[in-house]
Amino acid sequence: DAIFKQGFLAEVFEERPVKPVVTRFPPEPNGYLHLGHAKAIAIDFGFARFHGGETVSHLFDDTNPDEEAEIYFTWIVKIIKWLGFTPSEITYSSDNFQRLYELAQDLIRKGGAYVCHCSESEIKLQRGGKDGKEGPRFRCTHADQDIRTNLDKFKDMHDGKYEPQTAFLRMKQDIESGNPQMWDLAAYRIPKHQKPHLRAPEWKIFPTYDFTHCLCDSFEGITHSLCTTEFILSRESYEWLNKTLGVYEPMQREFGRLNLEGTIMSKRGLKQLVDKNIVRGWDDPRLYTLIAIKRRGIPPGAILAFINELGVTTNRTFIQTVRFEQTVRRFLERTVPRLMLILDPVPVTISDLAEPVNLEIPFSPKDSTFGSHSLEFTKTVYIDRSDFREVDSKDYFRLTPGKAVGLLNAPFPIKAVSYAKDETTGLVTGIQAVSDRDAKPKAYISWVPENSLKVEARIYRSLFKSDDPSAAQGGFLNDINPDSETVYHNALLESGFNEVKHRAPWPAVLGDVEEVSGPESIRFQAIRVGYFAVDTDSTDEKLVLNRIVSLKEDSGK
Ligand code: ATP
Ligand code: MG
Ligand code: MG
Repeated sequence: DAIFKQGFLAEVFEERPVKPVVTRFPPEPNGYLHLGHAKAIAIDFGFARFHGGETVSHLFDDTNPDEEAEIYFTWIVKIIKWLGFTPSEITYSSDNFQRLYELAQDLIRKGGAYVCHCSESEIKLQRGGKDGKEGPRFRCTHADQDIRTNLDKFKDMHDGKYEPQTAFLRMKQDIESGNPQMWDLAAYRIPKHQKPHLRAPEWKIFPTYDFTHCLCDSFEGITHSLCTTEFILSRESYEWLNKTLGVYEPMQREFGRLNLEGTIMSKRGLKQLVDKNIVRGWDDPRLYTLIAIKRRGIPPGAILAFINELGVTTNRTFIQTVRFEQTVRRFLERTVPRLMLILDPVPVTISDLAEPVNLEIPFSPKDSTFGSHSLEFTKTVYIDRSDFREVDSKDYFRLTPGKAVGLLNAPFPIKAVSYAKDETTGLVTGIQAVSDRDAKPKAYISWVPENSLKVEARIYRSLFKSDDPSAAQGGFLNDINPDSETVYHNALLESGFNEVKHRAPWPAVLGDVEEVSGPESIRFQAIRVGYFAVDTDSTDEKLVLNRIVSLKEDSGK
């Protein structure tokens, strides 16, 4: 809540200390939300919640029929809920098409709008050319049409009597203003490629963002309309339209966007990665769309913690993905149980262990409320290939012939006596060991018993080699890290997982809000390997795990 108690957002409330607070979150249903959107969600919903109000979710600006798809509507709502927020109402700009149309007619009657037939280049000229600096600004003759003519022409637009892009409704604002967002912006257009609108197939003309946004905010009684700073200049036009039409006036204020470095988030770029099969899909765990972040197993609480940590100002925030991961790691450290997972198993047979030993192992070394689970220490255990060396050296403390090593939580250290090797592959296939009860081992390695769960573990690293993939020579496609994913098909996971799964999601993940449970909410720390969650590719026969983050920041680019 820190971001609402002081700083920018506290000042926004002081400017208009009304209750109940009503905010809105207005995504365009033309793509999947990304981590940047999570900031807007946390602010829009959080601000209202903090002040005891509510948030309407406009599935907004569904005024571009060519770009939208039902799947985006569905996922936007799911993701908002996943982040722990519930819209008080879900509304669509298109619900208001008739009302907006009538207000546009009102605006014409007030002398505040005219139907214009100018081309793009003519409009540019009227606005003073490039950057408004090449010549004087002026209005076209259409601005002088009488009200009757404008009303008739607007009706003709509505009735489909004009070809696409041959007529549009323009607001009569203030071309003398220093603000380009006041230079007679478009209010209605006839789009070129008309695919019927999902919710309003009968409409042929569509209101623009500048016409729709402020009015829909007004209809819904939004008290504080919080958006990103690209809209600062639009604020004047936002206020102008509501005032001119004499409708309720929400207050728009702008905060800085969250930009992630070390990855890309633009829809066009992500689409290329998906289309070229560089990633598995829009929810590939290496991406930073919220569906990808969710699939990877990052808890919603960690995202909210991250946004709180960054704070909210009017400045744009540039953050490296590794910094986000640092927050995720810290968050997981205190919220998930621990288990042993062996990525690349090699069997070790302890020849002097007559009977299996039953062990009781805590899920957390620090927090006893996590409880414990039983684990059998069997005659054959599996360790990771990387924890064994055929030839000893002075600075090596893991398993190697003649040297004792500790097995985590096991009753005694072991010492390797011999090993077998596959001559064609050169890989060690099995190790013989004996107990070494008096040894004081310098290192402890993980292991799992016989009959552990065979799983597929996917280890992710950064999808890009550089910190600024977009700036790479030849574009981000030239900057793909060939080692961004390693799959271990025969990993072994200790059976304590069954209890972890049964109890998931573990407490404290979202604070006082309960996380919607799904495969990704089954998380654990694999001791010495990283944090993992269950992937949606899992079936009854095969468990697939994603590594959420490593235990420590590695520069594994
Ligand atoms: P994109 O082009 O990345 O999809 P957008 O600006 O088109 O972003 P919308 O879908 O219109 O995004 O976004 C809904 C809300 O989310 C808007 O209020 C917008 O300001 C906010 N938003 C979008 N991107 C970010 C970001 N990177 N950081 C913070 N807020 C964002
Ligand atoms: Mg947009
Ligand atoms: Mg968008």
